[in-house]
Amino acid sequence: QVGDLEVCVSEAFSNAVEYGLPNNTDGTITVSAQLRNRYSLTLVVRDNGKGFDNINQAMQPMFSTGGSAHSGMGFTIMESFSNKLTVKSKPGAGTVVTMHFDYRPVIKEGMTVWLSGDSADLGITDYNVRVGSAAKVVRPPNKSDKKVLVTIDTIDGDSNVTTYVKRSTLRF
Ligand code: ATP
Ligand code: MG
Repeated sequence: QVGDLEVCVSEAFSNAVEYGLPNNTDGTITVSAQLRNRYSLTLVVRDNGKGFDNINQAMQPMFSTGGSAHSGMGFTIMESFSNKLTVKSKPGAGTVVTMHFDYRPVIKEGMTVWLSGDSADLGITDYNVRVGSAAKVVRPPNKSDKKVLVTIDTIDGDSNVTTYVKRSTLRF
């Protein structure tokens, strides 16, 4: 959700301003976002300011060097709002906060999806399927299911074949 991203950027950015580059220190803060295959976003907030030593300690809930105005929950919030958080920092060299976000599309019964691979990629052995063909979801997968039951048209002319295909090959 966009709201989660906003919170994470704002926590990391405000840290960079307040701790990395305090009191109007000259420096650079960069925020970058990289979207991979539509479902995976990497957000990086970097500053070349003061940095800090004990990363584990800094990431503990309620640890703060900022005084009573701070609850020390910034990293904890970033950790819970993202799928993965990595923090690199060195005193005098600055800080890099990297956050990954995974967006798993919700697969619903009856929805149309597109197959991104060929028959082998899809894990189909009995039929030949054209890359990019449409498929209709017959049964939505459970969280851990790697395969999804779909109905497809095959290259050989069999239409409405119902078979399992690898979830990772589905495009939306
Ligand atoms: P809150 O975010 O709840 O206002 P906080 O900023 O102190 O409090 P965190 O965001 O979890 O809490 O950060 C923990 C500590 O890590 C900070 O108090 C500071 O000492 C250090 N820190 C975090 N980001 C940076 C940074 N970019 N540069 C230098 N020190 C940092
Ligand atoms: Mg903070």
